[in-house]
Amino acid sequence: MYFPLQDIEAAKLNFDDPEHLRIHSLETFGTHDGPGIRMVIFVQGCQFRCLYCQNPDTLDVRGGTLVSIDELVQRAVRQKSYFGKFGGVTVSGGEPLLQRSKLSTFFKRLHAEGINTCLDTNGRLNNDQVHELLEHTDLLLLDVKHINDEIHHKLTGLTNKATLALADYRESTGKRMWLRYVLVPGWTDQEEYLEEWGQRFADFKTVDRVEIIPFHQLGLHKWELMKMNYPLKDTESPSEECKQKALTIFQKYFSNVVLK
Ligand code: SF4
Repeated sequence: MYFPLQDIEAAKLNFDDPEHLRIHSLETFGTHDGPGIRMVIFVQGCQFRCLYCQNPDTLDVRGGTLVSIDELVQRAVRQKSYFGKFGGVTVSGGEPLLQRSKLSTFFKRLHAEGINTCLDTNGRLNNDQVHELLEHTDLLLLDVKHINDEIHHKLTGLTNKATLALADYRESTGKRMWLRYVLVPGWTDQEEYLEEWGQRFADFKTVDRVEIIPFHQLGLHKWELMKMNYPLKDTESPSEECKQKALTIFQKYFSNVVLK
């Protein structure tokens, strides 16, 4: 473990102010997290500990800044004319599901203003509060980090069971999602598991895009700044051959695969 895991009860204590979201940062013209031009809110706090995390400064549930939901809605409304037909607001992280009830309020307010909502999550939780949030989420971006639970556990510190259950739940609602997969040499590039990952979701009707995100080292300086032991500091980005292999395998199962 590279950073102490806070337990869920402690996290709840830190997150129970209903009017404010605990955020790490905000991007006004994001184009990487969902369709179109988007205001992207990176929330603070995550209970996964992915070996490849490029934002270790978002992990601590006690960090970040409390920003009122009112202010965030007003900012989104001011930016609305730039969103165009496909854009809107994305909440990413960190891990948004830690603030699920407040995010339901936030997304309802955005919908009342006619603004599209998108949620980027690792799917760590699958309960009624999360289902309510998904009702107000136009597009779910779900990171399924590994299909094999044992490797998922080694890679993230936790099981993939809730993530898979959340994917099944979203499918049962008929609402849209994109699946995301970070391709890390030596960790997530095994052919047999790429096949299994594809097979697991191949029949889903709600998955209208799959994104392969090649591992990179842009977050290295953050691990160093925080004086944290970065286990993948010597890992290289996937080769062209590795990326093409993953792309070819996923294309067997999905009609719209994007290599980022
Ligand atoms: S889920 Fe995202 S924010 Fe959390 S540890 Fe993994 S990569 Fe980092």
